[in-house]
Amino acid sequence: MHNDTARHRQTLRLSAMLLMLGLFHGLPWLRWNGMPLLLFNIDARQLHFFGLQLRPEGMLPLLWLALAAAAVLCLVTSVGGRLWCGYACPQTVLTRLHRGLQRLFAFKDAPRWLAATMRHAAWALVAAWTGITFVGYFVPIRELVGGLYPFTLSGWETFWIGFYALATWANVLYLHEQVCTYLCPYSRVQPLLTDAFTPTLHYDARRGEPRGPRAPGNGSVMQRARGLLDPMTARDYVFRASHPTSAGARATFKDTHLGDCTDCGDCVHACPIGLDIRNGPTTSCIECNACIDACDASMQRNAFPEGLILRTSSARINQLPRTGMRTKPLLFAALSLLFLTLAAAGLASA
Ligand code: SF4
Ligand code: SF4
Repeated sequence: MHNDTARHRQTLRLSAMLLMLGLFHGLPWLRWNGMPLLLFNIDARQLHFFGLQLRPEGMLPLLWLALAAAAVLCLVTSVGGRLWCGYACPQTVLTRLHRGLQRLFAFKDAPRWLAATMRHAAWALVAAWTGITFVGYFVPIRELVGGLYPFTLSGWETFWIGFYALATWANVLYLHEQVCTYLCPYSRVQPLLTDAFTPTLHYDARRGEPRGPRAPGNGSVMQRARGLLDPMTARDYVFRASHPTSAGARATFKDTHLGDCTDCGDCVHACPIGLDIRNGPTTSCIECNACIDACDASMQRNAFPEGLILRTSSARINQLPRTGMRTKPLLFAALSLLFLTLAAAGLASA
């Protein structure tokens, strides 16, 4: 990591990862008044939920609770952007954990086969434990773990542990961010949840364009008084750079006319999906912030201010005035309140 802001982002990501892993793996082990805290006991057709024991016919409050969780997620998305994707989604958390294990077992001096074997063994263990924990939400986890040795698990317990372990193992190894791009419904509905004031990842084209390599020493656009471009000109440069076939060969500029993007390509190389965020915000972006970290490092190398790629709203980038009320956040807040009230009333009378 290269600076305090990047370190801060990394600490946030690590904390969110540990919190989500702790919750997922810890909840099945916790007890409330001698009963499991959370257990969907399929055999007994009973749900243990924070001290309550609910039969199938009494689970309506849980439906309200699930709808409240969905409404809160919509509210958070419309106000804060894709924070869920960048920090807390299981796909993100597991992919990050896998990359962390890869770095941990990247022994420089060990034979390559040994490091590769250890990496695969570590990930297989994580996948197996994830499968056990998942089934532990449906079968008391102490019984489940006790049945591993000597092996006394039933056929369906063995099947589902194997199924979820294999799904975790293959999902992260072979699919990783493809799931976000092609399979995740949440990523498809983003435009319905957000508005022009929702923060998302932006490249500040007014500052960055025209892009290009240059000799060191001229300073950033603000330091050499070139200043920011007007939005139309900036968009035109972006279009020309991203559509070379239709826009024709790009003009060359004197170093003093260049914007702050050195066209180093680090943001594109850092992106797990291979996006070029300079082409504009896209629903494929999972807001992992890797391009921000990469560009901030590039800015630092050139002694330019950070923040050429930044998290901000389209309204702020395009200098739109703040007008009227934001209907989406208000709607999602009202729905969250309604569903939470219904869930609380139902659970209180359960
Ligand atoms: S690297 Fe940047 S553009 Fe790529 S997914 Fe992450 S935040 Fe989005
Ligand atoms: S990392 Fe920053 S300077 Fe390098 S190409 Fe991307 S936007 Fe330009």
